[in-house]
Amino acid sequence: MESGKITWFGPERDAPSGKNDETIDAGGGTVVPGLIDCHTHVVFAGSREDEYVRKIRGESYLQIMQAGGGIRSTMRAVRVATEDELIAQSLPRLRRMLAGGTTTIEIKSGYGLRQADELKMLRVIARLRQLVPMEIVATYLGAHAVPPEFDWRADDYIDAMTEPSLLQTIAREKLADFADAFCEQGAFTVEQARRFLSRCAAHGLRPKVHAEQLSNYGGTRLAAELNAASADHLECIHDEDIAALQATLARREPGVPPRGAPTIPVLLPGCSFFLGTPPADARRLIDAGLPVALATDCNPGSSMIESLPLIMSIAAGQLRMTPAESLVACTANAAAALGRADRLGAIHPGHQADLLILDVPALEQWAYRVGVNAVSHVIKEGCAMTSSL
Ligand SMILES: [Zn+2]
Repeated sequence: MESGKITWFGPERDAPSGKNDETIDAGGGTVVPGLIDCHTHVVFAGSREDEYVRKIRGESYLQIMQAGGGIRSTMRAVRVATEDELIAQSLPRLRRMLAGGTTTIEIKSGYGLRQADELKMLRVIARLRQLVPMEIVATYLGAHAVPPEFDWRADDYIDAMTEPSLLQTIAREKLADFADAFCEQGAFTVEQARRFLSRCAAHGLRPKVHAEQLSNYGGTRLAAELNAASADHLECIHDEDIAALQATLARREPGVPPRGAPTIPVLLPGCSFFLGTPPADARRLIDAGLPVALATDCNPGSSMIESLPLIMSIAAGQLRMTPAESLVACTANAAAALGRADRLGAIHPGHQADLLILDVPALEQWAYRVGVNAVSHVIKEGCAMTSSL
């Protein structure tokens, strides 16, 4: 590694001659790329363990929502929180994620649900970059849910959250790289999500879509149509959605419009694990040749999970993904879901030197040792930290 980048890797006997400033002994462990959590809502205030217990006892998502719970409960907590309070609650979560091997993380807004509070969330995400040695990618999730003051007026809400002055501020201050919409019954229709994402794209925010989580609703096809970086969730996917994602792979080929990166399917099995619902059919997507990514979806309502290695263990048991498939899903494919595959997510000369040393002799032992932190060293841009961060 030199200047934060990987310069060479391979068998010791082929190592380039010359003296190294520093040698790190991996002690017989396993070296892998730093993990990339490409879908999280990790900045939030408050806690919703009361809902967790009510769900265990059999109450439905709808019953909890009607009693004032769900996203609106976190929205109320975020709206009254200051930037400093949001940072104080979120930073320990990020530090634990880093200790567990996550070196790059995407964080969404989406709990402010009005202009000032969405900007507050995005500014908190920007400030976190100075406080923790992780690469933090911000997503403007203005279309997460309709707030109470816009009940039955989702179209007006979309207009409010795509006002040119707001989108210009986000673009000018570089507060987000992506825009995201929850395309689902009770959230936003395909048409509303298209309008939201197209207006954001006009200000340089590449689309992402929460798609096909609770029903087959058209979000995946919308993601493919809009050249989105990813379509996320996909529990209720149909054949035509898979075909739409497959068609986006052709964007990698020269001369095929629209040029750009494919739309990556991002699966979030922490949700199904946390809620006890059926997971996405990962094998069907992988067997269709799609570059599946995995993420924690860390959020207070449906996946209070910070650990990507735990997600890899869940993916093994519930999605029948091998440890190697899960590793690619949490590194190279997750980098692609964030438009950073040219620089992150692989041990490759020229790539950023984000690496982990695991205290296991083989990759397969990582997911197999469920719930144990096997990360002994985190190396971020060439700087090594022990994992007692
Ligand atoms: Zn999400």
